[in-house]
Amino acid sequence: MKLTLVHKGLLLVSIPLCFEVVSFALLLHLQNELQAEANRINNSRLIGDMTGKVTVQILILEESFEHFEGPGLATAKVRQVVNEMDRDFAELDKLSQGDAEMQQDVRRCRDELKAGIGDFEDLRKKLASGELENIKQVSKAFRTRFNDHLRNISHYGLWQLASRSALNIDTDKSTAIREQSVLFLKIAIGCSVLIGFIIAGFYTKYLTSRLQTVSDNATRLGQRKPLLPAISGKDEIGTVDKALHEADKLIDELQQARAEIIGMVSHDIRSPLTTIKCTADLLTEEMGEHLDPSSMIHLKNIESNCDRILSISRDLLDIQKLESGTMIIEREKADVQECVTAAIAATEGLRQNRGIQVVANLQESVAMIDPVRIEQVVTNLLSNATKYSPRNGVITVELKCEKNWVYLSVSDQGKGIPQHLRKDVFARFKQVDADDSRIKGGTGLGLSISKALIEMHDGKIGMEGVQPTGSRFYFTLPCNLS
Ligand code: ADP
Repeated sequence: MKLTLVHKGLLLVSIPLCFEVVSFALLLHLQNELQAEANRINNSRLIGDMTGKVTVQILILEESFEHFEGPGLATAKVRQVVNEMDRDFAELDKLSQGDAEMQQDVRRCRDELKAGIGDFEDLRKKLASGELENIKQVSKAFRTRFNDHLRNISHYGLWQLASRSALNIDTDKSTAIREQSVLFLKIAIGCSVLIGFIIAGFYTKYLTSRLQTVSDNATRLGQRKPLLPAISGKDEIGTVDKALHEADKLIDELQQARAEIIGMVSHDIRSPLTTIKCTADLLTEEMGEHLDPSSMIHLKNIESNCDRILSISRDLLDIQKLESGTMIIEREKADVQECVTAAIAATEGLRQNRGIQVVANLQESVAMIDPVRIEQVVTNLLSNATKYSPRNGVITVELKCEKNWVYLSVSDQGKGIPQHLRKDVFARFKQVDADDSRIKGGTGLGLSISKALIEMHDGKIGMEGVQPTGSRFYFTLPCNLS
């Protein structure tokens, strides 16, 4: 499944959110319980008040029938009290809803009241119709029965009701619920903050470690070092890392193709060029005397251009070998002095017509080197010094061996290299001046090849300015032969 960073962020945010929703629901439940408890207490108080009121009404009824001689006098008052009692019982019935036993008690009281009133109405009807004569005897019996009903109401009904409703007033329970709510609220807030911190920490670490890998891979891609393994996931960061890996693969393929083309072209150019150069040499040697000066100049041009293209193709082949890791140096015990002498001789032709002089101070310096490659480096430094020296300039070559290190320097009196460009001249295809290639005939490869060759010998190469004008290129090589 493709989850973007936004999806992942939302997913992580939803975890504390769910926790908060559940906590809120539980808190709401506790709140409802607390409310129900408060309602129950309130009901119980109202029931207590009602039972008190009904007790007073019972006393009024008892008193009304104390001197009962016939229903005529007491009827209105009795009816008023009985009606009130009936209303109160209806109210009590409502208040005791949800408690079956209490409701049963209320109904029992109501039934007793109805039975008493039924007796009273019966008696009243009988007296009115003249069916009963001895009112005194009858009223005594009626009072006894009526009082029994009232006693039942107060003893078995109201007393039960009052004591049951008192049982419902449980202040400890509401206090416990309130304490529980507060504790729960504290725990919920604490957990919510903790979960928030854990998730924020985890997500930040997750993101930064992935971004770090992408950033490392981008740096490695720039430096052409092997990339770190591709990071998992299909989010934006994973996509960028995948793109870097694809770019790396593509660059590898392009480099491979470029190396193959350079190798192929350089090889293919060298053979016909060598033939052309040999032919020009031969013509100069054998027919030199018979040729007019302008033809001679043309022949010399052919030779020098052949030399130039051969040197470029050699540099390109070297670069290709260095890039592909196939450049091999064959180290042997040899005197660097001999390499320097050979390089001075090889570049003599470049200096001849410009009056440039080489002053060499060379000490014997034996080291484990590939003499061919070291001569190539010195030749490059000398040919550069010659190219950039003024007419009749002096090139100073110094070779010494000190403290297990061979030190060679080539100084010229040329235009020098500005401070801020000095470290760049050892990079591939770098030239201080764009015109250098056109005017001096360079490619910008010589110093980068020299640097790689010296480093393969465990040495160091560098340059510095020379006063009042000029450059000094130098390298060191280890010469501890033990
Ligand atoms: P190139 O084939 O162009 O000489 P190099 O790699 O040998 O290539 O040199 C790179 C660049 O460094 C040159 O193009 C030139 O701009 C500068 N450079 C090298 N040697 C000297 C020097 N002795 N004096 C001034 N500039 C130099």
